[in-house]
Amino acid sequence: MSFESLGLCDELLKAISDQGYTTPTPIQTEAIPVVFEGCDLLAGAQTGTGKTAAFTLPIVQKLGEKVPQDKRRRPRVLVLVPTRELAAQVSDQMQYFGRRLSLRSTKIYGGVNIRTQMERLHRGVDIVVATPGRLLDHMEKGTINLSRIEFLVLDEADRMLDLGFIDDILQIAEYLPVERQTLLFSATYSQSIKQLADELLDEPRRIEV
Ligand code: AMP
Repeated sequence: MSFESLGLCDELLKAISDQGYTTPTPIQTEAIPVVFEGCDLLAGAQTGTGKTAAFTLPIVQKLGEKVPQDKRRRPRVLVLVPTRELAAQVSDQMQYFGRRLSLRSTKIYGGVNIRTQMERLHRGVDIVVATPGRLLDHMEKGTINLSRIEFLVLDEADRMLDLGFIDDILQIAEYLPVERQTLLFSATYSQSIKQLADELLDEPRRIEV
């Protein structure tokens, strides 16, 4: 399997090769076609398997196919992550690949000044990578508009549940459009992950690597 045969566009193939990736990892081979098809996805994948690029690549390609012309862009992708470290890692990849298709990405997490994040959101972004608590702060202040979200990604969902984010996640999900594509990644598959998946995913494809 090659990145070319997964249907990725030339801009992304160039970015992938600049990054030094030569072959897709198993999660990338399995997940990328599912995202292109438009199906929800429940994926069992550990850190280090290349799961970030597995959702980032097809999502930015789909977004890049129709970049809105409005001056102020509203977020179309929301990635929820358990920690600020993961927010930084995922956001770096979204930025690296998204930039090739003129997309803007930002990260939102607690423990830092909220004002800088508000200003960035106000200028307009396509992609938001966030920890649940700080995202809710922005929602309560009315400094983020989630009405245009097309993709919701829950990354390391099991860690988010371990950290007690379940209520926050469900509360956030209530404000998202029902018509959206949802992808859930988790290293483990427990009863609580199953319940979360039942709540948020619509007839998901399941993959395990
Ligand atoms: P992740 O599981 O997303 O945290 O990725 C783990 C590491 O693998 C990151 O440093 C990625 O940059 C790298 N990586 C992702 N996809 C590939 C690939 N196809 N070939 C080589 N390295 C990759």
